[in-house]
This record gives sequence, structure tokens and C-alpha cells, in this order.
Amino acid sequence: MKNNPDDLKKISEVVLDKLCVYLETSQQGKKKTLLQKPAEEIAKLLQLEMWIKEGGLDPTSVNHFIDTYLANTQHMHHPQYMGHQVAVPHVASGIADFIHGIINNPMAIYEMGPAAAVIEKFMVNWMLDKVGWFKGSHLSDFNRLVSNGGGVLTHGGSLANLTALSAARAFIAPDSWTNGTPSDLVILAPEEAHYSIARSISIMGMGQNAVIPVAVNNLKVMKPEALLSTYQKVKETGKRVMAVVANACTTATGLYDPLDEIGHFCEEHKVWYHIDGAHGASALVSDKEKHLLKGINRANSLIWDAHKMMRTSSLCAAVLFKDYQTMERTFQQKGSYIFHDKAALGFDTLPYTVECTKAAIGTKLFWVLAAEGEKGMATYIEDTYSNTRQFYQLINQHPDFYCPYVPEANILCFQYTKFGTDNDFQLQIRNEIVRRGNFYITSTELNNVRYLRLTIMNDLTRESHIKALIEEIIKVAYGIKSLE
Ligand SMILES: *Cc1c(COP(=O)(O)O)cnc(C)c1O
Repeated sequence: MKNNPDDLKKISEVVLDKLCVYLETSQQGKKKTLLQKPAEEIAKLLQLEMWIKEGGLDPTSVNHFIDTYLANTQHMHHPQYMGHQVAVPHVASGIADFIHGIINNPMAIYEMGPAAAVIEKFMVNWMLDKVGWFKGSHLSDFNRLVSNGGGVLTHGGSLANLTALSAARAFIAPDSWTNGTPSDLVILAPEEAHYSIARSISIMGMGQNAVIPVAVNNLKVMKPEALLSTYQKVKETGKRVMAVVANACTTATGLYDPLDEIGHFCEEHKVWYHIDGAHGASALVSDKEKHLLKGINRANSLIWDAHKMMRTSSLCAAVLFKDYQTMERTFQQKGSYIFHDKAALGFDTLPYTVECTKAAIGTKLFWVLAAEGEKGMATYIEDTYSNTRQFYQLINQHPDFYCPYVPEANILCFQYTKFGTDNDFQLQIRNEIVRRGNFYITSTELNNVRYLRLTIMNDLTRESHIKALIEEIIKVAYGIKSLE
């Protein structure tokens, strides 16, 4: 394949045909969701060494390669994919990826991709508006308005969390950029905070001991009453609280922390309030579901992944701030070759992110919204949330199954109890289900008890698929028992 338009056209036609068949068979639930082979076998099947040594991938030879590649994928579009919290992507997002891949406009510097830079800023305004932090008169108002919110897209929620916590540090200790982080700073985070929170704190040089856990209930939701006592205890030891972190929603159970109550606490004690809404902030788009996020506007910072519940391929995440100035004070560096005080056109996002080169990730979210409209996006979120509650009913009413809670989002935990609730047994069921490849599910532990776990990311997942899953679990469980 040559680097020219002719070969681009030929090879993309071949690949496109394959992808259309892939999408169709996946969406129809034909074939397996996943069939895992050992790594060495996949490397051999793909003829990796031969290809890089000899080159020559062209519109003919790509056929075999792409068939083998697609055969060894996780089929996200399969209605029986119910695994991790990553989007079953809308094809519109894939088109945006394709365009970016061909033209490559790393738009963190406006000049390197004006159209993509404008789309990112526009999408950030749209998200700020959903939170209640946008003060402009229309979404294309890009001025630095007094008391307006601010935000930037990042390659993932983990980087977004690091960015938000860095802003919290700059707020309480502006000198830390030059002198290092003062040793008396800590954060209060629910015991169930995503690991990227603790990881960020270590990266920031504060050490794991600076993450003070706030007690959660048996369903991993923060106990707001524990917040005050934890805060007081920390203050007694002479520490300063840099931030309070809340989950919207929690990874394990998909339940939302009481955001409004926590916000009230943070206002009263004048502490930076950070909400990790990587998965669940998308409910803001739905009038029916946004009540779950009541009080979100009380936060100082928020992260929100589009590549979880807004149907964009990985990655596209946002870190948003109530006050844009807190974002602008985070990274206090100047590099003369880029950070010139400019009278030039547009805006660079590079001063506000960890990344230097950055993909045109905002275009992916834009394409999905442009295809579906806000209403279509809301419907998708409402469907996956309400389907999950319906699946809860179905599973929980079966005498041999038990669900520990009514889901708020699209995450559902349960056990098969016919042969007891032994942790290893639940895990064995999960592993055998995945090995068979008809369904893809995960598992999690709540208070040292193991549960099977579904994340209903696919709006094609229906009751019939859940009924089939129940049957498969029973079959698998009997199979494991018969071997004992
Ligand atoms: C997924 C997730 C993250 C991490 O986001 P990535 O985009 O995977 O880096 C952080 N917090 C929560 C609550 C999450 O669900």
C-alpha cells in the first residue's frame, strides 16, 4: 500500500466491507462475543514478524490480515457483551477517528487544527452548560466571561482526575508548583474511589497516606455522616484538606454518592469539591435521569468520560471547572516556543493539560451528537439505565438468583445462589461464561463477597438476552458442580 489517495480508496473499501459485515453479525448476536487465544498464537496468526520485515500490505493481502484481526477481537456491538464500562461506539465516532487518522490535526495548538480546536471548545461549553457552569449566551461564545466555567478534553478520565486534583492543589497551595507539595495536605475520598484518584495523589508526590478514606455503606456509597467525623479527625492532626472527592457513580455498583449533601459540606468548610463522574455524569443529558446528579453544580471540578456513556470510541474525556481561572492556574509553566502571549487567532488548550500533542477527540463526541441529536443521546442513556432496572427485576425474581440492590445506573450485581454463595464458585462461573464466549460479563467484590456483574452498555441488549444468560449460568454452574 502506497501513501497515496488511490491506495487509500482501495484499501478502505476492502476494510469498510469487512467492518460492515462485522458490525452486522455482531449486532445480530451471531457468533461469539470473545474467543481468547494465547498471545503467541495471535502473533503467529497475524504474521506480525513477516509483515514488518517485508512490508507489502496491500488491498489484496489485507483481506487475510483483517479477517484474522477481527476474529480476535472483543465484539462490543454484540448484545451479549455486558462487560466493562467502555462505550459500544456509535459508527459516527468511528468516522471521526478515521478522518483524524488520515489528516492528523493535533489541535492543542489552535494553528495545528482550527476546526477541531473549535469543536473541542464547543463541546466543552455544551458539557459546562449541562452542569450549569456556562455563562455565555450561546454555545459558540468562547470568551473568558466572568465566573464562567472552563474545561478541556483529555485522553481519558485518569488524566482528567490528575488534572482536577492538580488544580485543587494549585488552589490551596499555589506555591507547590515551585516548591513542591506541602506535607500537610490530604484528600478525603470514598473507600471506593477509582484507583486513578490514589494514583494521581502518588504522582503528585503526596504519597498514599494522603488519601484519607471516607467510610462507604455496604453498597459502596459514601456515608455523608462519616465525612464530618473524618474531616474533624484529620484537622485535629494538623492536616489541611486539599479536596473532597465523590463518585458519580461508583465503578463497582453504579450507585451515586449523595452529591448535594457532600457539596453542602464542602461549601460549609470551604473545601475543594471534586466529582468523579467518569461513568455517570452522562445522566445529565437526560431529563429523566439527571436527578441522580442533583448538587453536581456545587463541585469545583468534575470529570466526565464521553467514551463510557456517550457512545464515543476510546478515548474522549473532559475535566471541567466551575471557575475557568482555577483551571488556568493549574500548570504554571511557560515554554517560549508555544506559550507566547499572543494576539493570534483562536485558543490553545495545551497550557491546561498534561498532554502536549493531543488528538482531535472532541470531534468524536460531536459526530455522535450530530448524528443522534441530544434527544437521541438522552434516549440511549435512558434506555440502558431503565433496561438495567428491568433486568434487575428479571434476575432478582428468579428463586436461585440474588441481587444486592436496585440499580441506579446501568451496572447490576448478582449471585447465583443455588449452590451457596461461595466467592470462588461465583468466580468460576464468571470465568467459564467468558471462556465459552457467548456472553461477556465481569465480577466484583462487595465487602469481601463476590458478585457477578453486568454493565449494560449496549442498547440492543434485551430481556431475551438476559433470559439466555440466566440459562447459561445455570448450565455452567451445574457443570462445575458435576466435576467436583
Ligand atoms: C473509568 C473510570 C475512571 C477512569 O477513566 P479512564 O477514562 O478509564 O481513564 C475514573 N473514575 C471512574 C469512576 C471510572 O468509572
